This record gives sequence, structure tokens and C-alpha cells, in this order.
Amino acid sequence: MKILINGINANLRFSSAHLIPSHETCGFIHGHSYFVDVEIEGERAGEFQFVVDFKDVKNSLRSICKSLDHRLLVPVFNKHISFKDVPDNEKSVEKLQKEKSLQFKIGDKGYTIPTVDCVLLPLPTSSAEDLAKFFADKLSDDLKDMGYDNLSSLSACVNEGIGQGALYNKEL
Ligand SMILES: [Zn+2]
Repeated sequence: MKILINGINANLRFSSAHLIPSHETCGFIHGHSYFVDVEIEGERAGEFQFVVDFKDVKNSLRSICKSLDHRLLVPVFNKHISFKDVPDNEKSVEKLQKEKSLQFKIGDKGYTIPTVDCVLLPLPTSSAEDLAKFFADKLSDDLKDMGYDNLSSLSACVNEGIGQGALYNKEL
């Protein structure tokens, strides 16, 4: 059986800035009001015969949304982003997180931004596709930590506003 959560109606949203380096139109810093839909499939289990408690799913998704909200999303492993004083093969979220400000170049454009204004993501890009995988991985880790062992698959759809989103399916 499957449970469905609709991000607009369940208020699973975040507003963030991002850019897609080297893309003709999306290569400039811009923002989206994102929302996240989720489907989770599994056997009904436990005292209440739930697939999964909606509250547990929403708590996990809310905390992921909150961690991204009102920040610039910076994908650390983007091949076009060169961070100052950090060679490409030494890039890591932990290392960059220690800097007070992030200094990086994309082509001939240079950026200096306070680190607190950014969320460093261990991703190749901040596209809806990569964010959908990020949500699916984090949510499945959280549900595992909560002790769920009856779930077979999970899908997360990250929508960049109404009308377009990327859906990532993960077998559990
Ligand atoms: Zn965008």
C-alpha cells in the first residue's frame, strides 16, 4: 500500500536561491518557491496498521525544508565551481563550512558570499533532479533511524513552483 503527501497542502515548502552554472538562462542567481511531494510504499504494520505515520514523514521533510529555506544553495561538487584555496579534489562540505565567507569562481564570474547565507550541498548541482534525490536519501535515512523496516520504496518530487518538478524513486 502507498501513502501520498502533497507538499502544497501539507505545507512542505522552502524558498531558496540557486543557479545552474554555465546554463544560458539559469546560470544567474535566481529563486524558487519549492514544494515537495512524497509517495511511500510498504506493508501495513504495527499497532495502528499504518504504512508509515504521516507525522513522522512530515517532521522529517519539514526539517529538510527548513535547512534549505531562505539560503543560497551551493552544490559543492559542481564541476564549474572553483572554490578559492580549495583544490577540486579536496572539496567537501565540512571543509568549506569552516570558512567565514565562500569565495568561488564560475567561469569568469567571481562570488564572495557569507557562508551563513548559503547551504553547502554534497551534490553536483542544485537542479530539481538533484534536490529530489537529496530529499529521498535524507527521508529514507530518517525513516530507517525511526525503526521502519516495512517500507519498499519511496519517491520524492521537488517542484520548482507550480507546474514543473523532478521525481526521484528510491528502492528501500
Ligand atoms: Zn532555477
